Amino acid sequence: MLDLKKIRADFPILSREVNGKPLVYFDNAATSQTPQQVIDVIVDYYSNYNANIHRGVHTLSQEATDKYEAARHTIQKHFNAAHAHEIIYTSGTTHSINLVASGFSSLLQKGDEIIVSALEHHSNIVPWQMLCEKTGAILKVIPMNQDGELVMAEYDKLLNENTKLVFVNHISNALGTINPIEEIIEKAHQVGAAVLIDGAQACPHVKPDVQALDVDFYVASAHKICGPTGVGMLYGKEEWLNKLPPYQGGGEMIAEVSFTKTTYAGLPHKFEAGTPNICGGIAFGAALDYMNAIGFDAIAKYEQELLEYATKALLEIEGLKIYGTAKNKTSVVSFNLEGIHPYDVGTILDKLGIAVRTGHHCAQPIMDYFKIPGTVRASFAFYNTKEEIDTLVSGVKKAKMMLS
Ligand SMILES: *Cc1c(COP(=O)(O)O)cnc(C)c1O
Repeated sequence: MLDLKKIRADFPILSREVNGKPLVYFDNAATSQTPQQVIDVIVDYYSNYNANIHRGVHTLSQEATDKYEAARHTIQKHFNAAHAHEIIYTSGTTHSINLVASGFSSLLQKGDEIIVSALEHHSNIVPWQMLCEKTGAILKVIPMNQDGELVMAEYDKLLNENTKLVFVNHISNALGTINPIEEIIEKAHQVGAAVLIDGAQACPHVKPDVQALDVDFYVASAHKICGPTGVGMLYGKEEWLNKLPPYQGGGEMIAEVSFTKTTYAGLPHKFEAGTPNICGGIAFGAALDYMNAIGFDAIAKYEQELLEYATKALLEIEGLKIYGTAKNKTSVVSFNLEGIHPYDVGTILDKLGIAVRTGHHCAQPIMDYFKIPGTVRASFAFYNTKEEIDTLVSGVKKAKMMLS
């Protein structure tokens, strides 16, 4: 059981007002809110030991380096990676995916095949299209059905000896569908393909075990897991990270430099050119500590309660349709009111202090599939309450009355 009162008190932003109403924050799938424990870590860094890392012998630099590397170990433990050097700090999921896509441009040949899913975020579509343009590889798509689930029988048909890479998100940000990644990974490995799982939307709800999954790459952003923006991670199996060339050249990523030849640093520094988001990395570790102290089992169980409660209440509104009705889904409800543009609904909800996302959620192919311009998306986190959902439901009813 979660102690909601105590948890909510950890998040200063939750007690502010918007348009004269108490804030109801239901845009967690876009970014999560930050608890005081993580804010304190950020303030402490800039107040007490702000310095560049890995370079100085002075005390501040050592303190910053120690904390930054300790956070890497926290991330390693959280994802159960075999080695800390398999955790690469990035600026977020998008950066992580581009790093891998860019690396593969030297490993792929014309005619090689890459499989993505119909449920992807744009950040997991566009880098692969760019990669295909560069290498002559072919992009194939696992289709989805009306419930927003991947059609796995079609996946089986797409796999063959030319398949080199499979990229799928763990959980869809637009619909909340939890994809069967265990099966996707196992089948890809049977044809010798590598698998990258986009975990940006999964990590707020579940604790992935990269070794149990046997996944080759797993990526996430700190800002969706109670951490700051501008920092994230790439997990890669050591053998894969050794195979990929460096992404960017610069300081930190070299062993030796001369004008005739430069040798690269070992893992993880090979992929970490330049001064990183030091404070962000340390705060990322603190955010994982915070969420683990609450416990992912309790978080997942409570969020399922919120999902069921909201789904039932919203469906009682006549003319409301929910998109994404997969059996396995997380606490995301994407919906539309018949004949009303999602943007108009979102605008009225904002007047009532309710923050939801409207639009295509960086997943236009999904919207095209349903032949809609977008949806209203309410996404719940462990610090949300049923009372807030009641506020949403009455807000949607009000919007319907005003707009129809
Ligand atoms: C948010 C999100 C991304 C992009 O994450 P950034 O932090 O913006 O790089 C990618 N994939 C999914 C599924 C997401 O939810």
